[in-house]
Parts: sequence; structure tokens; C-alpha cells
Amino acid sequence: MQVTIVDRKHMAATYGTPAFRGVCLRTVDISDKCPACGGARGEPRKTRYHEWGEFYYVDNWTNPCGHIDKYSAVLNESNVQYRKPAKPDAFQGPDSSQRHAIESP
Ligand SMILES: [Zn+2]
Repeated sequence: MQVTIVDRKHMAATYGTPAFRGVCLRTVDISDKCPACGGARGEPRKTRYHEWGEFYYVDNWTNPCGHIDKYSAVLNESNVQYRKPAKPDAFQGPDSSQRHAIESP
């Protein structure tokens, strides 16, 4: 399944540098199975947040099995399964047009 989450690792890594752009959203493909037990993951729903002076939407989901997916673990999962290794400074974050697209229903 595809989910949009906040990449706090990237934000922490770039905070205080010119590369920092506030909230860093990332859309990733992950398994639809819970990594802890293999049961089905919950249905993602867009949830609105406000942070660093901007509104944004990210996906939240509740797994029927009760296991909680942390965003940091989801990022790691997507890295392992779907992304080639890249230099940390190669990622620039989504541009404003992508953010706008995320906000449109
Ligand atoms: Zn589970």
C-alpha cells in the first residue's frame, strides 16, 4: 500500500542547514501486512496536521491486530524494500507542487 508520512529523520538531519524546508513529506510503498505478525494493516486515512507554519496531510492507520507502525519503522521498511541506497544529502524533499497535490482530495 502507498502512504504519505513525515520524514522526521530527514528533518532532523537537515535542521539548521539551508536544506531544511520545514515539514518533509514522503510517499512510500509498504507492505499491506503488519511486520510484527503478518496480519492485515489498517486502511490509511489522510489526517491533517499543522506544524512549522503549514498545514499538511499524512496517512494514519490502525492495524486490526493492535500493533502500532511507527513512522520511523515505516521509513526503514520502505528503504529496505523499495529504494536504492542513496546519499542522505541527495534527497531534497517534496517540492511545493507535490504538497499541494497531497492536499487535494
Ligand atoms: Zn500485527
